[in-house]
Amino acid sequence: MKYAAIASGSNGNCYYVAKGNDVILVDVGINTKHVELRMANLGLSPAAVKAIFITHEHTDHIKGLSVFCKRYQIGVYLTEGTYKGSKLQLPEHLVHIIKPDAEVRIGDILVRGIPKYHDAKEPCSFVVTDGQVNIGILTDLGRGCDHVKQVIRDSDVLLLESNYDEDLLRNGRYSYYLKNRISSGWGHISNKVALELFLENRTTRLKHLILGHLSGENNSLTLVQDTFCSHCADIKLSIATRYEETELFDVTHILTGRPLDIESRPLAYQQNALF
Ligand SMILES: [Zn+2]
Ligand SMILES: [Zn+2]
Repeated sequence: MKYAAIASGSNGNCYYVAKGNDVILVDVGINTKHVELRMANLGLSPAAVKAIFITHEHTDHIKGLSVFCKRYQIGVYLTEGTYKGSKLQLPEHLVHIIKPDAEVRIGDILVRGIPKYHDAKEPCSFVVTDGQVNIGILTDLGRGCDHVKQVIRDSDVLLLESNYDEDLLRNGRYSYYLKNRISSGWGHISNKVALELFLENRTTRLKHLILGHLSGENNSLTLVQDTFCSHCADIKLSIATRYEETELFDVTHILTGRPLDIESRPLAYQQNALF
């Protein structure tokens, strides 16, 4: 299986997973032009995407969806709540309503919905598997519920939200309402909580941890790196950012790869821009 974060952050998310010709995207939260450009950077064609799975209706997960799915005539799998909440009117033949715990087969890959706590109508995360390798994609987590813990235990590759630094959020310029929304148990998890979840639930299965959905205002690459680096000596560690796509990872290389291979973007890409 191959996978990449096309974009990851509180301003836009799009994740790519493929097994041979079976290609899916999870979320299209950046505009179509940027998805096309970033896929082209990886040598990937949007026309090869067979299905799009949407986690929930927040703009950073659906911004490019309408144009992208129509342009390439790709079926969209989403819960009824997510579809209603999105207020999108997609062509009927492209809409597939699923339960938040649905299992959908796309050729050789199976996509499993994982219900989650988040301030959206009917949100879920997704695990993508070919029956051997499990890739968990966990963002927009209100809390580390039992579902989240189980996905971490079962993952060979895990993309995990590490949204904010608790001190930066507490002391930052966000309103009381917004601070509360983020940390209420229905918003996002902090670097500290992400680390705890990872340490308490990781198994020897886990070979690649990718941290993502970083806040632009209340987090930085350095903080995430400092939080996780010393705990990831025996696995590959990457940080997905809003600024560019990650490389296209190949799980067969990861499973046989060298440990201590820390991948992250240069610090010049630090997230001090306010968007
Ligand atoms: Zn959200
Ligand atoms: Zn989000």
